[in-house]
Amino acid sequence: MTEPVVLPDFSSFGEQAIKGLDNPEEATAATQALLKEAQNSGEPEIGAPGETFLTLERGICREGAWYREAEVKELNGADEEAIAAAGTDSYKVFETLLLRGVVTVGNEPMSRKVAAELLIGDREYLVMAIRRATFGDDIEFEQLPCPHCEELVDLTVPLGAIPFTRLENPEQTEFEVPLRGGDTAVVRLPTGEDQAAVLAIKGDNLAKKDSEILGRCILRIHRADGSESTRPPATSLGMSARKTVLQFLTDTQPGPRYTDFTFTHETCGKEVELPINLASLFRGM
Ligand SMILES: [Zn+2]
Repeated sequence: MTEPVVLPDFSSFGEQAIKGLDNPEEATAATQALLKEAQNSGEPEIGAPGETFLTLERGICREGAWYREAEVKELNGADEEAIAAAGTDSYKVFETLLLRGVVTVGNEPMSRKVAAELLIGDREYLVMAIRRATFGDDIEFEQLPCPHCEELVDLTVPLGAIPFTRLENPEQTEFEVPLRGGDTAVVRLPTGEDQAAVLAIKGDNLAKKDSEILGRCILRIHRADGSESTRPPATSLGMSARKTVLQFLTDTQPGPRYTDFTFTHETCGKEVELPINLASLFRGM
């Protein structure tokens, strides 16, 4: 008998780890739900079930050129054992999924280095593709109690129904974020490497985690008076500026929004939140 794999929520290593501000509990609390009708807020380029090729939003840069094509594979028993061996550390589990399930990014074989370079959203999109290659396109939920009317609902959520955010320009690597008082922060979007640095901070000090991501992702600040500071310490920023930048990083990060999935329950007509987590994607592993 092997212990079942404890798969973490996306919220424990995805956008919530960066956001850290608004309702950190929210995403995980609402798992008691169901659905009927999927809502689309984007159109991920997902192919048919079993499809193993995808186009990332950002990809990797080599000698000035961006490579966005990626290939994933169906996970097998050896992969399942490797993922189980990663234990309960959410980052390790996620990283193992990527290293085992992604074959290539651009022309390069998957590696820790490539995984660290990828945007968080591309990493989450790759996990979606691995899920499709392994278990197909539909996520099945059974006997979920509607939080509004308590009816039990069986629900099938196609991966394409999960909200998906796109980059307007995949090759834009720096973004200007207007701050109060006329300052402008120039930022980049967080990658797997940034995520690992945040997760390496032990404890529940979200402000410290926010400082880490801000210190990494704010490249410079143009002041209203014409001066500029390069890589300002995040602790020197006002709370309003910190919040504005964190929100921008969260909103702009491309890829699937697993925790934003909702549907309308036909019987009661109410909107139901059903955050999708790794456990719902890889049930049966
Ligand atoms: Zn209902």
